[in-house]
Amino acid sequence: MTASPPPTVADELRGVGLRVTAARVALVETVRAGDHLDVETIARGVRERVGHISLQAVYEALHALTAAGLLRRIEPAGSPARYEGRVGDNHHHLVCRSCGTVRDVDCAVGRAPCLHPSDDGGFLVDEADVTFWGLCPRCRPQDA
Ligand SMILES: [Zn+2]
Ligand SMILES: [Zn+2]
Repeated sequence: MTASPPPTVADELRGVGLRVTAARVALVETVRAGDHLDVETIARGVRERVGHISLQAVYEALHALTAAGLLRRIEPAGSPARYEGRVGDNHHHLVCRSCGTVRDVDCAVGRAPCLHPSDDGGFLVDEADVTFWGLCPRCRPQDA
C-alpha cells in the first residue's frame, strides 16, 4: 500500500465533473488564499496567476465552481457577493455593519441545521443560514 498524495485542485475539479482549465485552477487557489473575496478582487488574483480573463468568464467559472460545491457564495444584505473556499461545514458569518468585514464563526452545534425554527410549518429543514450583524473590533466604540 502506498500513501496517495493529497488531491490537487485539478483532481478536485475532475472529481466533481468539471473540465480542468488554468483559469479554474487559479480561481480556486485565489479564493482559498483569500478571505471572503468579492468578484473584482478574485478577477485580479486570477489575472495575476494566468493573465487576462474577462469578468464575465470569472462570473461563469464562479457559478460552476459554486454549483459543484468547491466554493461557497455568501451575500450579506447590502454587500456584493463574496466567495470562500471553506465549504461543507455549515459555518456562519459575523458581518460588520460599518466596514463590511466578514469573519467566519463555527456552526453553533457542529452540523446543519444548527438552528431549528420555532414552527417548521411542515418543512424538512436542512440548513440555517445565520448572519450575525454588528460592529467589528476596529469599528466598535472603544470605551463602551
Ligand atoms: Zn468594521
Ligand atoms: Zn466563511
